[in-house]
Amino acid sequence: MSLFDKFIGATIPLVPKPIVRRIAAPYIAGETVNEQVATIKDINAQGFMAATAILGEFVTQRSESEEAVQQYEEVLAAIAEQDLDSNIHIKLTHLGLQLDKEFCCENVQRLLEVAGKYDNFVRIDMEDSPTTDDTFDIFFRLNEKFDNVGCVVQACLRRTLSDVRRLTETQANVRLCKGIYIEPREIAYLDREEVRTSYVALLEELLTGGCYVGIATHDEWLVSEAFRIVDRLGLDAWRYEFQMLHGVGAELRRVIIGKGHRLRVAVPFGPMWYAYSVRRLRKNPRIARYVLQAMFRW
Ligand SMILES: Cc1cc2nc3c(=O)[nH]c(=O)nc-3n(C[C@H](O)[C@H](O)[C@H](O)COP(=O)(O)OP(=O)(O)OC[C@H]3O[C@@H](n4cnc5c(N)ncnc54)[C@H](O)[C@@H]3O)c2cc1C
Repeated sequence: MSLFDKFIGATIPLVPKPIVRRIAAPYIAGETVNEQVATIKDINAQGFMAATAILGEFVTQRSESEEAVQQYEEVLAAIAEQDLDSNIHIKLTHLGLQLDKEFCCENVQRLLEVAGKYDNFVRIDMEDSPTTDDTFDIFFRLNEKFDNVGCVVQACLRRTLSDVRRLTETQANVRLCKGIYIEPREIAYLDREEVRTSYVALLEELLTGGCYVGIATHDEWLVSEAFRIVDRLGLDAWRYEFQMLHGVGAELRRVIIGKGHRLRVAVPFGPMWYAYSVRRLRKNPRIARYVLQAMFRW
């Protein structure tokens, strides 16, 4: 992390709430289910699929996780009622992973059952490295019972190639991303080019191994590499999708769907936006840097 990024990270908690709101606004659909439904409608009208998440992570009370499950059930019902093209994605630390792994697994199972009733899909996000083993453990257990669950792998982690080989054995539904958490060099590639190289290798491995892949990136170079790979493998557009975050890369999105690929926009919402944004910006000030660059066109 550069000194400038460290400075940004340290000063984030001092930034007044309205300014954090301004930084977070382009990425977040709002606080309520109604606001989120309106945003998804708009995303769908532009020709993109959506994936929605309720903001929250690292909860300390079981009741917070129970509340999250209930809110996700409401979201799934609203998606079905409004006939929206959106699935959901969840964080296991929001559903109680750090309180009790079995409680968390039951919460995810409950959501998979509800999503199944609506013919919908749930993806389990990947969080920081202390949670990786438990996240895969829960995913693999549920993937045996349900066909509407997916997971995420992070190209920055050195372990990911072996995780991907396990995932291809069951032809899992996998989102591939670079990884947003700052991890130590012993377990992670820190160099941008190394992460890109890892991403390309993992994408090939996942696609040739028969996985459905969510290609999550705003990196134009990686998007071009992905075009090249799916073209060379002669893959049908139903075997993969591109994924981007709400509020990022509008032009790149148009390029992607203009070439006939499918694209999903991830759109988080919820009242916890402030705590979540501050924690996220502190953990990875590179995001704050992107926003400042976009605002002032550095
Ligand atoms: C749909 C989706 C789901 C994700 N899920 C996970 C997950 O489960 N676990 C996890 O660890 N990470 C997740 N990520 C985050 C991901 O790991 C990266 O941190 C993030 O996507 C930035 O990497 P990049 O590939 O876009 O490349 P970068 O090189 O970081 O970014 C390329 C360009 O995109 C723009 N950009 C990228 N991110 C932002 C941003 N937040 N705000 C403004 N501009 C930006 C910048 O202009 C930048 O130059 C997800 C990302 C996406 C798109």
